[in-house]
Amino acid sequence: MGVDFRSRKWLLFLALADCILLILWYRGLFGTAENTAQASSGKSLNRKEISQNSVEAEGKKIALTFDDGPNDLYTEPLLDGLKERNVKATFFLIGNEVLEKPEITRRIAEEGHMIGNHSFYHVDLSKLSEEEARMQIERTNEVIYEVTGQYPQLIRPPFGKLHPRLVCDPPMAEVLWTIDSRDWELDDVGTVVMNVLPKAEDNAIILMHDASATSVAAALSIVDSLLKEGYTFVTLDEILFV
Ligand SMILES: [Zn+2]
Repeated sequence: MGVDFRSRKWLLFLALADCILLILWYRGLFGTAENTAQASSGKSLNRKEISQNSVEAEGKKIALTFDDGPNDLYTEPLLDGLKERNVKATFFLIGNEVLEKPEITRRIAEEGHMIGNHSFYHVDLSKLSEEEARMQIERTNEVIYEVTGQYPQLIRPPFGKLHPRLVCDPPMAEVLWTIDSRDWELDDVGTVVMNVLPKAEDNAIILMHDASATSVAAALSIVDSLLKEGYTFVTLDEILFV
């Protein structure tokens, strides 16, 4: 029996076979195209992610602040380390210490760091009369001006306590902190570093003291770690007034 290719059955079969072949070919082609798209988008996503991360990291600012200086033993080694790393910080100085160490104070200013007021005798301003508290602040402003030629714009009251009714003239910005390293009570560099690094974030203000070898070593270790993470260390004006 010969095959009648014109029969309806055969035509239907051929049409069906064509459809199946067409579907298989199309799926194969589409699948390949999809895989290629996925692979290439995967690659470009990775590139995009990397560039996005570095842009985000490059945009992150953080401020190191040091209270209670200038210190005879520790401020200059700290300044050396910051200079080597081209990092700027903010120093809240005690007026009486500035009077005794004008050279170190001048170096802080000359190397591009910001200087703030931390009272004249490191006293709890909230426990003084309004007049006494004002004297603590104004006297400190004067000695800093005599040494550096600039009046501080910022005040960090000792113990974080400002006099409740005190109004500075000219007005000063009170600045506390967002990350407390607790360096003043620790003598272990690693613990101080770990008090800070996990909390690091954009616009954070780190509280430290240039008053011990532990603090200096911890501060420089924190700087090295956060520079690797893409942070830029800025003085407080770049966080508060921008
Ligand atoms: Zn202090």
